Amino acid sequence: MPSFPSSGASPQKQQQNNARRRQLIRQQRKSLPIASVEKRLVEEVRKNDTVIVVGETGSGKTTQLPQFLYDAGFCLDGKVIGITQPRRVAAVTVAKRVAEECNDQLGKRVGYSIRFDDSTSNATRIKYMTDGLLLREALLDPLLSKYSVIVVDEAHERTVHTDVLLGLLKKVQRSRTIYANKNGKILPDIQDQLQYFTPKAYQGIKIDPLKLIIMSASLDAKCFSDYFGGAKAVHIQGRQYPVDILYTYQPESDYLDATLVTIFQIHLEEGPGDILAFLTGQEEIESLERLIQERTRQFPPQSSKIWTTPIYSSLPSEQQMNAFKPAPAGTRKVVLATNIAETSVTIPGIKYVIDPGMVKARAYNPVTGMESLIIIPVSKAQALQRSGRAGREGPGKCYRLFQESEFDKLVDSTVPEIKRCNLANVVLQLKALGIDDIIGFDFMEKPSRTAILKSLEQLILLGALTDDYKLSDPVGRQMARLPLDPMYSKALVVSSEFKCLEEMLIVVSMLSVESIFFAPRDKLEEARAARKNFESSEGDHITLVKVYRAAAECLEKSKNANAKEKTMEKALNRWCRENFINYRSLRHARDVHSQIQGHVQQMGLNLSSCGDDMVLFRRCLTAAFFLNAAMRQPDGSYRALATSQSVQIHPSSVLFQKKPDCTIFNELVRTSQNYVKNLTRIDPLWLAELAPQYYATDD
Ligand code: ADP
Ligand code: MG
Repeated sequence: MPSFPSSGASPQKQQQNNARRRQLIRQQRKSLPIASVEKRLVEEVRKNDTVIVVGETGSGKTTQLPQFLYDAGFCLDGKVIGITQPRRVAAVTVAKRVAEECNDQLGKRVGYSIRFDDSTSNATRIKYMTDGLLLREALLDPLLSKYSVIVVDEAHERTVHTDVLLGLLKKVQRSRTIYANKNGKILPDIQDQLQYFTPKAYQGIKIDPLKLIIMSASLDAKCFSDYFGGAKAVHIQGRQYPVDILYTYQPESDYLDATLVTIFQIHLEEGPGDILAFLTGQEEIESLERLIQERTRQFPPQSSKIWTTPIYSSLPSEQQMNAFKPAPAGTRKVVLATNIAETSVTIPGIKYVIDPGMVKARAYNPVTGMESLIIIPVSKAQALQRSGRAGREGPGKCYRLFQESEFDKLVDSTVPEIKRCNLANVVLQLKALGIDDIIGFDFMEKPSRTAILKSLEQLILLGALTDDYKLSDPVGRQMARLPLDPMYSKALVVSSEFKCLEEMLIVVSMLSVESIFFAPRDKLEEARAARKNFESSEGDHITLVKVYRAAAECLEKSKNANAKEKTMEKALNRWCRENFINYRSLRHARDVHSQIQGHVQQMGLNLSSCGDDMVLFRRCLTAAFFLNAAMRQPDGSYRALATSQSVQIHPSSVLFQKKPDCTIFNELVRTSQNYVKNLTRIDPLWLAELAPQYYATDD
């Protein structure tokens, strides 16, 4: 296990430590399964335009292949190797690891770039990023001309961005080949074939063919190979120790509780080794973290300790890295992860895996156009990946918190996300890239026609597309520039007109993060009382604005007292604890806020505040979120107007107690019922007035 040099060591000692660590990293790199095929991989990439690389999680694909290509000279002429990841966390942690392996600072040769956070510089040659971010880059540079190689990693996950990216990259690759063959001269016939970019932007720039590498942890590479015209697949021989699979005898009604019990069972009865538990999101992870801490407090002081480290997408990146550190002596590490730890990152030291068999997924009803988040059973492929995490360094054990008979009922593999999400975002991006024929686009797996038509209709209603399906200017163009869901982008554009962009910016930032409020089970009453200070009877949006502003005031106070940044953060952290606000989420929301603010300022939108005029702000929310409106029914339930679905107000809403006649909402969550979250009370007459394209009647 690598040890970190302590800051107290003498310079000489530190040097020795560093040298030892370097040596260790060299050994680790050499022992990875991918190391033995370096030459062959580089050869294949030289010979072929597209290569599929298949290898088990942990074999070294993500961290090593880009370094092989760099060493083989694929970055000469200042070109960049881009590696896309479906998840932010993976892009960040892997970039940090690879920078360390290269003995270089992050942001120099190796960097990452994700939405709302960019560490790269002009010197960056190996760039890890999210697939969504590369799609956005194509808006500015349609030929992705700065990349010599693009590696689409984790392709087996089939996220909606990966699928769209694959289609786009196929086009870009073809265009670049045509371009390169004509020595960069742009003739009218090429422009036709290129279809979607303004050649002017590339005048004087030499364009080379693009190398594409598709990487996957699933052994079935055929679908990728077929899609890329029979592209060559290279398999890396993995190394896997046996993993004992244990099932429960009874079905578990509460998988969170069952996970807690299993963690302690392993801790008290099993030999050394770290534990990895798969949960569905930040909220579950945080609540389990608290439960573990509460329970360990009851242990006698001399007993061995548990060290929990969470890892999920919106966790600040310094904290994400904790999961990769070895546990302090005398403790057992328990990593609480979302399905990020399934294949995206490899955490060293894991011997025990706990798999409750659940995952949070997007679900979409193409007829109503409504997307929701649901918690569903994992697929067989996912369950196998999860158990595999226990056998990386030696024999391990996987505790599946369901019965063996249930495993047989799981679906083989997950349906690609593109078939179960709202496509408005995808369609808007493609339109902005000049790809007009969405139905004819070469998707690896076509979404249903109904789903495409529904999203076109939504974009027309939002004013992003004209009636003849063209990107509207300026609204559609502005919306496409914002790295947000079209409804949120619309909200920002509209609020600039309503002169309340300042408030909307806060709302959109706060809605972009999970769970701002937190309510520990043992302090529910106190948490409720604390929230009362911020509550607005108008709804959750204004409540969120109040929280954000109160936090900003707290920071401002310590700033005025000339506090250092660290002290300011500490003060904010304390304030959050006192007010039962989730510090991590709030920090994230502040980061998101500063990033979007940069975007809207660049776009020249009008950053003004509506002051105390909350009617104006609620009208603006109505103009933005009119597609998500619900009316109270005589029986006290609600009906979503766009879909006629019956919905309930989620208990977490400030409007749960005082139910409004009419409301707009931001999120639909399906559990035993349809719940709507993040609401604001509105006047139903505003709907026809502010969204006549949708609500006006003919008379
Ligand atoms: P793959 O992409 O094939 O799943 P990776 O390249 O991500 O494999 O990981 C290869 C190995 O590098 C892992 O088995 C692990 O031992 C090591 N590794 C990766 N990331 C880190 C990290 N942040 N800290 C320590 N070791 C790491
Ligand atoms: Mg990987």
